[in-house]
Amino acid sequence: MRSNTCLKCGSPMAEGFVVDNGYGTKTVSNWVEGAPVKSFWTGVKLRGRRQVPIQTWRCGRCGYLESYARGQ
Ligand SMILES: [Zn+2]
Repeated sequence: MRSNTCLKCGSPMAEGFVVDNGYGTKTVSNWVEGAPVKSFWTGVKLRGRRQVPIQTWRCGRCGYLESYARGQ
């Protein structure tokens, strides 16, 4: 587990993630390729889109968030 340093204040940042509250389920938010297209049924269309889970680091001092979407 690597450690990050806050770009704003230089304090250590803690690893975490942004949770997505679905209908009774909680999942990690994904980065989705391309501009969002609204869908009447699902909110936004995701079919055929590349999706990467987002890892977010939080500064314990100022609260600054830094996100990474690493993956294939
Ligand atoms: Zn900070």
